[in-house]
Amino acid sequence: MADKLDSMPLIAGEPVREGGRQVGDVLNPATGERIGGVTHANSDDLDRALEAAARGFKAWRGNGADQRAAILTRAAGLIRERAAAIGETITREQGKPIKEAVGEVVYCAMLLEFYAGEIKRIYGRTLVRPAGARVEVQYHPVGPVAGFAAWNFPALNVMRKIGGALAAGCSTIVKPSEETPSGGLALVQALIDAGVPGDAVQCVFGEPDAVSRHLLASPVIRKVTFTGSTAVGKHLAKLAAEDLKIATMELGGHAPVLVFADSDIDAALDTMAGAKFRNAGQVCVSPTRFLVEEPVFERFRDGFVERARAVNVGDGMDKGTQMGPMASARGLERMESLIADATGAGANLLTGGERIGNQGYFHQPTVLSEVPTSAEIMNEEPFGPIALINPMPGEDAMIAEANRLPYGLAAYAWTKDPARRRRLAAEIESGMLGIEAASVSAADAPFGGVKWSGYGSEDGREGVMACMVTKTVHEG
Ligand code: NAD
Repeated sequence: MADKLDSMPLIAGEPVREGGRQVGDVLNPATGERIGGVTHANSDDLDRALEAAARGFKAWRGNGADQRAAILTRAAGLIRERAAAIGETITREQGKPIKEAVGEVVYCAMLLEFYAGEIKRIYGRTLVRPAGARVEVQYHPVGPVAGFAAWNFPALNVMRKIGGALAAGCSTIVKPSEETPSGGLALVQALIDAGVPGDAVQCVFGEPDAVSRHLLASPVIRKVTFTGSTAVGKHLAKLAAEDLKIATMELGGHAPVLVFADSDIDAALDTMAGAKFRNAGQVCVSPTRFLVEEPVFERFRDGFVERARAVNVGDGMDKGTQMGPMASARGLERMESLIADATGAGANLLTGGERIGNQGYFHQPTVLSEVPTSAEIMNEEPFGPIALINPMPGEDAMIAEANRLPYGLAAYAWTKDPARRRRLAAEIESGMLGIEAASVSAADAPFGGVKWSGYGSEDGREGVMACMVTKTVHEG
């Protein structure tokens, strides 16, 4: 592993060297030190990428399903082989524990393997007409796709932008986050090494707004896909609408966790505390608002505090670390301001609440209880290691609180009652619901939100179909 992590755009299969271009700093969040640079594409580079994407689309879509599947399977193999090295760059740039980082890379390989199989299951259909005539419903790749990925899953967010698109036969230009550039870039390189033409899978970096405006202004791009905040998602959806490009938006959440008295409280605690502090809470499906039925409130609250205090916080490269630093100083500042606002509004701070040390961006696992709905943190995604635990009188109030916010990405419930499970599945407004389950993500299952958490799905069959358009061919 090189000490320095320098990332540069990959356009038409070639790395774009510095040559007077702007170079941004990449920091290690465990130390705050610069560990590499990221070369920004200039306007001419982006134009070259667009021309290549148009060429790449024609070349890549021309491959049969078998050939595309073989190449994606090969790329998955390379990603598995390189998982340890790619994972290490992720930990150094983003901070998460190395085990989580390597697991994230392996998940990317699993996603590609799923998509490689799914390519062969993109069926059209034939409609019955009088003899000699027929109507065929066909699916075609939409065209070149521009993807913009956030820093919290430096590899997976990128794979979600490009995997389904490549499976569908689209070419892609992806912009990983400039704060965590290496992981996504390594995936693009693996795809090229496996045989995807360099014109069909490209990677750019730059000032995010300038890059997205440039790419979305071009008629070459037919679809945009974004992971990040609701504010930026709304902005990109408007830019896409100007040219009627289709869009997939994977935006913020504020996941409620409904804990009923009939559930296995110890299992709920073990599972949900682990999920809360995974990736220091910087996960769009992170459990956030714990709505706990009154009879078990104190037990759940005290058990959660105990588990939060036991989390081993440290440098993600250390084997015993369970929670790394926050990814940036920005996140740390936001925790401080949200906690001050919540305690000012009357919330109880039960554990944590402070930054750890003054090197890097470490924050204590934090639990707040009896948090008023007027507090900012009950309304805006904290995206950090803070759990909010409130007592609730019963099911109706819990469902109403779960649905109170405009977000609807993930929701979780702990109950043994089958009838209640069905009611929750019907009534909770979310794209994913975990019932006695912390994981709401799997390669073969659609992942996406409703309301302000966005639209469209990644992963699963839906992740491929989201990059296809329908054509109906009538033969007389
Ligand atoms: P952000 O939306 O500003 O940035 C997220 C990513 O989008 C970054 O990698 C950034 O480079 C990119 N981006 C920003 N503006 C862009 C633009 N105009 N065009 C293209 N790409 C653009 O979010 P942030 O400041 O990093 O974090 C703020 C909040 O966003 C978090 O607290 C969290 O609520 C939310 N967020 C959600 C996710 C998610 O997984 N859904 C990921 C990251 C952040």
